[in-house]
Amino acid sequence: MSLLIVGSIAFDTIETPFARREKIVGGSGTYCALAASFFTRPWLSGVVGEDFPVEVIDFLRQRGVKTEGIVVQPGKTFHWEGKYGYDPNQRETLKTDLNVMANFHPQLPASYQRAKIVYLATIDPDLNESILNQVRQPRLVAMDTIQFWIKHKPDSLWKSLKTVNIFLANEEEVRLLTQEVNLIRAAKKILARGPSLVVVKKGEHGALVFGPELLFGTLAHPCEEVVDPTGAGDSFAGGFLGYLDRAKRVSPRTVRRAVVAGSAIASFVIEDFGIDRLRRLTAAEVKNRMRFFRHLVSF
Ligand code: AMP
Repeated sequence: MSLLIVGSIAFDTIETPFARREKIVGGSGTYCALAASFFTRPWLSGVVGEDFPVEVIDFLRQRGVKTEGIVVQPGKTFHWEGKYGYDPNQRETLKTDLNVMANFHPQLPASYQRAKIVYLATIDPDLNESILNQVRQPRLVAMDTIQFWIKHKPDSLWKSLKTVNIFLANEEEVRLLTQEVNLIRAAKKILARGPSLVVVKKGEHGALVFGPELLFGTLAHPCEEVVDPTGAGDSFAGGFLGYLDRAKRVSPRTVRRAVVAGSAIASFVIEDFGIDRLRRLTAAEVKNRMRFFRHLVSF
């Protein structure tokens, strides 16, 4: 098939209890595309400012990511700042400077318009309709979101769920969006609005997949030292959708495996700051970790 990812390409400033990094490369689209590249050759659409390093776009290309849909606009690249406490599942957003993202209206290159899987990765939900209108015959539409959009545009998010087949979000976001503490109830509320699958990411506690009933759950790979949790969710989505793209079909079996693929990649990302671990990650390491997952959850 073919996987189109529309997401942020960003500079992130990250603070953990142990270190701080200023304006390192991040963004939902960046993480997702790099993660998906272990399974397929994803197409990335996004916007950067003139301050964004060309080397990173070259690196994406070397990893097999199609970058024709990345636009450079006058101004500064999107900048996000977040702070983590000792619990890596809890983070506080300190700043969201949309910069060039504020005026981003993706015009997909002609070659992107035949994508079969479309992933709307934590972008302004008001853009979803115009993006989907440009894709001729998508077979699967997936969407993720982040607190910023739930707080600022909840109505648009609910509205765009109608056109989404798979909704992915972390548990905090799912609770915030639905105003339900219980995840089963929350998933049911979302499923009632359109998606046929809801994937709830639970950070170091793994992920749950809800369809008409609970379909699958897995642990996360236990990690001795979490350096920077940023991008784990986007990388999960990239591994998950990249796997489905390669499998060419969505069935209970491929969805389960895709969850493990996503969990495996996410477990590496958090071992270093930003995309540094993804830069060094090899296909053999991913394969071994997926094998470890099989061992971890079978009985
Ligand atoms: P996560 O996978 O949830 O850790 O996603 C973190 C990534 O999301 C960071 O690299 C940020 O640059 C990006 N991000 C944060 N806020 C937004 C936003 N409002 N819109 C798009 N991307 C965002």
